Amino acid sequence: MYGVFMSYTLPRGTYDLLPPQSWYQRKVLDAFANMAATHGCGEVVTPVFESSQLFERSSGETSDVVSKEMYRFNDRKGREFALRPEGTAPVVRSFLQNLAENSGLTRLFYTGPMFRYDRPQKGRYRQFVQYGAEFFGSAHPSVDAEVIALAHDYLVSLGLPGITVELNSVGLPAPDGPYELALKAYYAPHHDELCPDCRARLEKNPRRLLDCKVETCRTIAKNAPLVLEYLDDDSRAHFDAVQFYLRELGVNYVLNPRIVRGLDYYTHTAFEICYSGLGAQSALLGGGRYDKLVAQLGGKPTPAIGFAGGVERLLAALEEQNCLPGPIPVPAVFMVSMGDKAFNAAYTAAAKLRALGLTVVYEPDKRSLGAQMKAAGKSGAAWAVIIGDGELEKGEWSLKNMLTGEQRNLSWEMLAEELAKKS
Ligand code: AMP
Repeated sequence: MYGVFMSYTLPRGTYDLLPPQSWYQRKVLDAFANMAATHGCGEVVTPVFESSQLFERSSGETSDVVSKEMYRFNDRKGREFALRPEGTAPVVRSFLQNLAENSGLTRLFYTGPMFRYDRPQKGRYRQFVQYGAEFFGSAHPSVDAEVIALAHDYLVSLGLPGITVELNSVGLPAPDGPYELALKAYYAPHHDELCPDCRARLEKNPRRLLDCKVETCRTIAKNAPLVLEYLDDDSRAHFDAVQFYLRELGVNYVLNPRIVRGLDYYTHTAFEICYSGLGAQSALLGGGRYDKLVAQLGGKPTPAIGFAGGVERLLAALEEQNCLPGPIPVPAVFMVSMGDKAFNAAYTAAAKLRALGLTVVYEPDKRSLGAQMKAAGKSGAAWAVIIGDGELEKGEWSLKNMLTGEQRNLSWEMLAEELAKKS
């Protein structure tokens, strides 16, 4: 008996990341950091929890993310916190706290886990990893196009086919703006068919109704008036200019007047990049301009634009298309030893080879030559270094090329020199 048996299970909607998936994730996040750097973005790392109010004020209390999906908790002093459901509000908070005095354009990127209490399903988790970028300080339409290009070029750089940039303008949402009034008029006769949430949202924020996930609401939304028909002149000019700059950058896009984005703070440009292979969860990333959010969170009015994408959906798409990053790293050297003295010599030799930059592994509990050679083969190592007690006395190390089977005897110095050339 080893004590009381207990079974611990993974929380629903979460997953363990193990090799090689963990390596793929690291590679795509590194690639994102590199792509963001080419646009002058610096990395921002914020805590995974923040005051709940930050999300309530930014996303809007009626948003699904805040009203239903937030993991909330009180700390010992009764302060209310939430695990971050998204990255933009924390980055804005950090910008305000640390960088608001910057003049010109501030460019930031981030990666990290987000948390949403949503119904788990394919491509939707309760803890998932996002990568994103946020640009603060310019309302210039060229910046919208640059941010979209950053997202687009990143996906292209990973070799992912089948992606489409979908573009819209949400104009300037206002409580009784022309579009809001048009929506209220359209939805009024459907009032009783709407889900309870949508009935409540209709007065406060009728745009919310457009991305309700309930089937009957989705059917009604299909014939709702489209925002592009209600754009004011400035929003229209901005939208045209964004498209001009996208064409300048050679980024293909299609207009999708149905993109509303789930959160309250978007203005003007809204976009998604979709992948044709993933079925229902086709949005790989989404973003848009949010010129009002910084002021809404207490800063001086500062135009901004950004996007966020989910790593899980990206990796699923890359896997489906056979373009996961590769090759998976394998050890360079596998140490094989016969005898106690030889084991100790191989053990310290491994450390010396690692200091030269080589990946070196061994199997301490497999004692026969056959078992160790089998393990060497399985590890994928390019070289086996073989030493026995007798050879150790003669100072003779064997180097075996695992691919060709060719084997040579060398002094330690020669062996180290030979392997160093291959690191
Ligand atoms: P959002 O923050 O809702 O605009 O989502 C941006 C991107 O994050 C989506 O396009 C997805 O790729 C990803 N995403 C959002 N929610 C989830 C989730 N629950 N699980 C996995 N990925 C998600």
